[in-house]
Formats: sequence, C-alpha cells, structure tokens
Amino acid sequence: MTDWERVRDDFPELQQTMNDERLAYLDNAATSLKPTAVVNRLVNFYQQENTNVHRGTYQLSFEATERYERSRELVKEFIHAQDQREIIFTRGTTESLNLVAATYGEQNVRPGDEIVISLAEHHSNLIPWQQLAIKKHATLKYIKLNPDGQIDLDDVQQKITPKTKIVAVTHVGNVLGNLSPVKKLARLAHQHGAIIVVDGAQAVLHLPVDVQALSADFYAFSGHKMLGPTGIGVLYGKQSLLEQMPPYQFGGEMIEDVQLYHSDWDQIPHKFEAGTPNIAGALGLASAIKYLQKIGMKSIQTRDEELMAYLLPKLEAILGVKVYGSENPSQHIGVASFNIGDLHPHDVATALDMEGVAVRAGHHCAEPLVHSLGVNSTVRASLAFYNNQEDCDQLLKAIEETKEFFN
Ligand code: PLP
Repeated sequence: MTDWERVRDDFPELQQTMNDERLAYLDNAATSLKPTAVVNRLVNFYQQENTNVHRGTYQLSFEATERYERSRELVKEFIHAQDQREIIFTRGTTESLNLVAATYGEQNVRPGDEIVISLAEHHSNLIPWQQLAIKKHATLKYIKLNPDGQIDLDDVQQKITPKTKIVAVTHVGNVLGNLSPVKKLARLAHQHGAIIVVDGAQAVLHLPVDVQALSADFYAFSGHKMLGPTGIGVLYGKQSLLEQMPPYQFGGEMIEDVQLYHSDWDQIPHKFEAGTPNIAGALGLASAIKYLQKIGMKSIQTRDEELMAYLLPKLEAILGVKVYGSENPSQHIGVASFNIGDLHPHDVATALDMEGVAVRAGHHCAEPLVHSLGVNSTVRASLAFYNNQEDCDQLLKAIEETKEFFN
C-alpha cells in the first residue's frame, strides 16, 4: 500500500506557501511537478556524466550512450512497445505529432483523401492535420462528441470511410478528461486501410499504457507531463511504418553515409533523431518512469479515480458552478473544467490564486472544443496522484469565497 502523504515529501514544490496560503497545485494537466529523484538525475548528469552520445571514443561517452539507449528501453517497457527501435525521442508531444504529419502524412496523403480527428483535440493534434489537409487538398473531418463529452461512436461510423488515410485522436482529453475508445477507433481505421495516431499527452500520468493492446500505429507524449523534464518527449511508431517514412530533419546523427550529392539515412530510431539529442532529458524521463513504476501505474490510476470521485460531486453541488463533460467522475481523467456563473475564468483563477490554489483558465489550446461548449474559456483544475483531499477542499472553499467576493 502506498503512503500517499509520504509521496508528497518527494515533491518539494508542494511544501511551499503561495500568497501566504498552503499551495494546492491543481495545474497538473499543464505540467506535472518533478520528484527530487528526477531533479537529482539531471544534476548528476550535468555534474558527473556530461558528454555527447553515439560518437565518443572514450569511456565517459560510451557510458552516456549506454544510459541514453537504456532510457529508450525503459520507455519501450513503459508503453509496452514491441521493440526499442520504435521509440523516437523528440522535444514533446507537439513535435512528435508534427513529425508524423510531416513525414507519414506528407508521403501518404493525396488530394481527395480524408483525415479524421475528434472535436476534443488539443491544437497540437489539430493544426498539423489541418495544415496537412490544406497542403494536400485533403478533407479534414471532425468526430462529434456526445453531450457528456465522449466521442460519439455513431458519428465515427459516418466519418471514417474508405477515403480515410489518418485517424488522429487524443487518448485522454485535456479539457474534459474524456477517455477515447482508442481500440474501437483503431479497429475501424484499420478496416478502412487507415492508420491511427494517438495523442497520449494526458494519459501517461494517469493510466497504464499499452500501445500494442490499443493497436496504435503512433503514440505521442511529453516527459514534462509525467514527472520528467521539459524538452523531452516520445513518438512511438510501428517499426514497419517508421522504416518506410522519410526523415523529419537532416543533419548529424541521422545519416549512414554522406556524399557530395547524395546521402543515405541511418536505421530507425536514429533516422528521426537529427542533431545532438536531449541526453539529460532522456535520462530524466527514465528516472520519472522508474519513479512511476515503483508506485505502479494501476495504483496511480486508482488513486486518481478516488480523488476525482471525491472532488467532482462536491464541485457540481456548488450553486452556480457548471462542470463541463460527464457527470461521472470516471469519465474525468485527472481533469475538471468549470465556470462559476458568468464570472470570467481569468478572474476566478486570479481569485483562487489568492487562496493558494493554482489552476488554469482559458481555452486550454483546444479552441474548437471549448467553443462547442458554448463558452470562450473555462477554469480547469487538474489532479495528480500527489494531490490530496485537502487540495480538493481548499479549491472548493476558495470557490465559495470567490463567489462571495464577486457578489
Ligand atoms: N496534447 C494534449 C492533450 C495536451 O494536453 C498537450 C499539452 O497540454 C499537448 C498535446 C502538447 O504537449 P506539449 O506542449 O508538451 O508538446
């Protein structure tokens, strides 16, 4: 059994006060906090192990290369990929998704083809497809959401057709916390000869992820949203697809042989990792994975569900508060978006900050979704396993005080 209060000691940022109040950090969907182990891993790399990888001829560089490649192996195990060559290190989810659009998309989408995404997408999993569709004279189609914010499976049947080349969906939504039926979507996409790209940015901190069980062709996520450092992310891709794709960027590290007027590319994954990689970032991400695995993703999932089951009904019960998405806490993975009457979400977030509660206000980089809710912005409280009931109570009390203040 995990002692969740003890876990909080691993996150020194939680120990501070904000505006003379205890800090309730409820902006985990934007970025997670970092445990001391991850911070120490970065410090140790820069203080003791710093060297470039892959091209050294001395012990320190061999060791850094080995640790960098071992990080890839850990990522492979974490998401249950088949082979570590299917793991590409990137700067984050945004770069991973752009990589797929610019390589697989560029190579495979033709005029008249269709790209299908859902209305719940973060701009990172929307704009690359929108721009690809414009460039290729393809059609971009949006899968509708049910009133409770879930992907409408009837609409999916209409939208995915033999013309579909790419289906791109978020695993967990960053505004509503909805869980997409990835397996069903993958089956349908594959039946029509399309591939499925999954944005896992909001899933990796909350759920055990198995890319093979999901039948994902590509799966993208960011280190900083799962206890790791910023500037490191992952693109998982099926080996057979990655091998067919052209490189994303050109330069050092990604070549086999360079002639004056011709070059040959390295094998995957290095074909997609041009230039000096984020070595410290990869080691930091490996440290974050080890931390998560020590607690166990199943145990983290249960903890998150319990916290949301505690918070959501109390939030919904506050007079004047409208919570978006499902009424069912299990359909809110880590995220509760709400508004208080017609108070501006930025005013609400500022008022909550005065009570030590850190939340986000805005369109959360998902403008089409937020507009479909009939508003321009929401307040978003997002939880992680190191939050506790006290954080939830502090938010609820601060909402009551905010209501009073503006009345
Ligand atoms: N996709 C989702 C669902 C997100 O929540 C985010 C970040 O908020 C991203 C993609 C983009 O992640 P990053 O900014 O780390 O590339």
